[in-house]
Amino acid sequence: MSIVDQKLQLEDYDHSYIWHPFTQMKDYIKEKPLIIEKGKGSYLWDIYGNKYLDGISSLWVTTHGHCRKEIDDAIIKQISKVSHATLLGLSHSPGIELAKKVVEISPKGLTKVFYSENGSSAVEIALKIAFQYWLQHPEGSKGKKQKFISLKNAYHGDTLGAVSVGGIDLFHEIYHPLLFESVQGASPYCYRCEFNEKFPLCNLKCLDSLDQVIRKYHKTTAAMIIEPMVQGAAGILVFPPGFLKGVRQLCTKYNILLIADEIAVGIGRTGKMFACEHEDVSPDIMTIGKGITGGYLPLALTLTRDEIYNAFLGEYEEHKTFFHGHTYTGNPLACAAALANLKIFEKDKTLLKLTEKIDYLKKNLVRFTKLNHVGDVRQLGFMVGIELVADKNSKKPFDPHMKAGIKVIMDARERGLILRPLGDVIVLMPHLSITIEELDELLDKTFDSICHVMHGFDA
Ligand SMILES: *Cc1c(COP(=O)(O)O)cnc(C)c1O
Repeated sequence: MSIVDQKLQLEDYDHSYIWHPFTQMKDYIKEKPLIIEKGKGSYLWDIYGNKYLDGISSLWVTTHGHCRKEIDDAIIKQISKVSHATLLGLSHSPGIELAKKVVEISPKGLTKVFYSENGSSAVEIALKIAFQYWLQHPEGSKGKKQKFISLKNAYHGDTLGAVSVGGIDLFHEIYHPLLFESVQGASPYCYRCEFNEKFPLCNLKCLDSLDQVIRKYHKTTAAMIIEPMVQGAAGILVFPPGFLKGVRQLCTKYNILLIADEIAVGIGRTGKMFACEHEDVSPDIMTIGKGITGGYLPLALTLTRDEIYNAFLGEYEEHKTFFHGHTYTGNPLACAAALANLKIFEKDKTLLKLTEKIDYLKKNLVRFTKLNHVGDVRQLGFMVGIELVADKNSKKPFDPHMKAGIKVIMDARERGLILRPLGDVIVLMPHLSITIEELDELLDKTFDSICHVMHGFDA
C-alpha cells in the first residue's frame, strides 16, 4: 500500500471505529479528520506534515509545550525501574515525592494527597470525602450534612457525581433523573449578570444571593464546590474580585467545607500556581488534574486538611476507612512526569516569565473588543474567552444552527491554528512556555478567523 493510501485508510478507520467525545459524529464524519502525528514546543503536525500552533494546550494540559525533554527523560527513567505498582497497601517513590512536593506548593493547610487518574474522579473523591467526613465527624452531625452547594454554570467533570454538582444545562440536563440533588447559587457571570447589575456598583449581589442559599441550607450541607476564579467550561467566566474570598468566608461562617476544583485553573494557568492564591484562599479540599503531568499521562489529586483526614482514622472494625481507589491510582510513570513538570516551573522560572506574557496578551486582546460580533473578552492569566454574539447591543447570542464558534475554529485550522470553542466562546489557552512571537501568531490568526467568519455572516 502506498504511503498516501495508508493515510487515507487511517482516516477511514478513524471514521469507522472511534466515537469521539463531546462530538456530534454525524457532522464529524463529513469532515476529513485531522490526525496528529507529532508535536514539538508550541506546535503540532498532522500526518501530512502540516504544522499547527496548539492554541489550547491540547485541551488545557500541555503546560510547557510538547516533547519536553525533561519530562520525556523522567518517564523513560521510571519505565526502566517500574511502570506500575499499586498504592492499595503499597507505596512507591514517585508517588511519595510528588505528594510531598504538591503539599509544599499548595495553599496552607492542605496536607494529605489522595490520587486518581482523571479530574472527574478527583471530584468524586472530594465529594465522597466531604460526605463521609460529616458522618464520622466527632461532634456527630450524623447523616444530617449530606447536600452539596454548587454554582450555576459550574463544570466539575462528566461522571454522575460530578454532573450532579454541574450547572451547564446543555451537558447536564438530560441526566437529571440519574443525579443526586444539589443546591445552586448564582454564577458570577458579569457579562450576563442575572441581577442586571454592573461591577463594582453591584456590591457583589451574586455573593449576597449565595449567602442566602447557604444560610438556608447549611445545616444539611456537607460542602460547597467551586472552580476558583474562573468557571472554565462554561466559557471562561472570570469572577469579579472579592467573590472567591467571600465564598470562603461564607463557608467558614456557616460551617460547611469548601472544595476548590483547581483542575482547569491550577498549575500556573491563571498566572499563579493555584487560582486560590489570587485571593489568598485556603480551601478544605482541593482537586488538581489537567496540567499536573504537563499533558503526558493521566493523573489527578485530591488534597485535604489534617482535620478531615483524621476523621477517617479508627479501629479496623469501625469501618471509618475511605473505601475508594482506582486501579491505576497514582501510577508511578504519571507521578514521575508530574514531578518533572513541576521541576520545570522552578528551573525555567515559568511563573515569573509568565507575568510579562500575560500583560502582553491583555494589551493585544483590546483590538478584539472593538469587533462587531465580539460581546465580551475575558482573561485571567493564560485563560482567555472571546464571546461571540449576534448583536452586540442586546448581547443576543447566535442561533446554534449558525455554528459560529465551530466555523471560527475551522477557519483557524486552515490558517494553521488549533482551537476548540466552548459554544460561541473562542477559547485561547496557550502553553505557559509560548514565546511572544508565537503569541502574536495566535492572536493574529484568531483575529483574522473571527473577522473572516463574522464578515461572512454579515455579507
Ligand atoms: C476538566 C475538568 C474536570 C474534569 O476532568 P477530567 O480529567 O476531564 O475528568 C473537572 N473540573 C474542572 C474544573 C475541569 O475543567
